[in-house]
Amino acid sequence: MKFAAFDWYGGRHVGRVSEDGTQVVRYDLPDGAAEEAGVACLIGRDLPAEAETLPLAEVALQAPIPRPRRNIFCVGKNYYEHAEEFAASGFDSSAAKGAVPQAPIVFSKVPECVIPSGAPIRIDPQVSTAVDYEAELALIVGTAGRNIPAERAMAHVWGYTIVNDVTARDLQGRHSQWLIGKSQDSFCPMGPWATSADALDLADTPVRCWVNEELRQDSNTGLLIFDVPTILATISNGITLQPGDVIATGTPAGVGLGFDPPRYLADGDTVRIEIGGIGVLENPVRSGAGGGGR
Ligand code: MG
Repeated sequence: MKFAAFDWYGGRHVGRVSEDGTQVVRYDLPDGAAEEAGVACLIGRDLPAEAETLPLAEVALQAPIPRPRRNIFCVGKNYYEHAEEFAASGFDSSAAKGAVPQAPIVFSKVPECVIPSGAPIRIDPQVSTAVDYEAELALIVGTAGRNIPAERAMAHVWGYTIVNDVTARDLQGRHSQWLIGKSQDSFCPMGPWATSADALDLADTPVRCWVNEELRQDSNTGLLIFDVPTILATISNGITLQPGDVIATGTPAGVGLGFDPPRYLADGDTVRIEIGGIGVLENPVRSGAGGGGR
């Protein structure tokens, strides 16, 4: 099943997206329940009663979790070919330990940088001149857990969505910790909606990314270095994961810094990410002082 958060008639709502992706069936929820949590307000409860059916074209789609309750966990260098391209780029402050990590690299993005599909990724040229895209499968935690063993980890997954882990490479390279380069305003496009956990086969789910009409990333979640159970076991090692936590699993090869010379995002570009079983996350790029005029 697919679940979307959306604005309609001045309120924020959550609903079930039809199989063909053209309609959303609104759930009857208390006012405000979906405001920041979005689809996360469905976690740990029976699905609410269904209200009216609305054409998706007539609602304003929001990120499935518009404001995650805490930072988005992210895994770095989690596909072999991307680990190699990143180490070779000169921006990798962790490269001294080798291109391929021996243990998952985990960093985070602040909740405020989440934007929905369709909203602009904003480049402020006074801050960064090396803004890059990263197509990623993200999982949504369903049940809390600490020290989760890998063999039981999948029971903690509520669902999945798509994240574009937009990155300012110059900031990422300058600061050993990646938070600033990863958390710029608008740097976490998420959506277009979330799917239930049963919608994906993690051993074989295509991950593709186009910039404008050019296919840049073309991989499969079956090629992850550290798989989803390992990621959950690693992050929950001493940190209690909470329902609604979002974990982005890493990006495959083909990001802008992997080209020679690098091909970073520019004003007027469009980034389109498609993950089989979920859908399409598409965002325009806008450049301007102050982040494109916002
Ligand atoms: Mg990433």
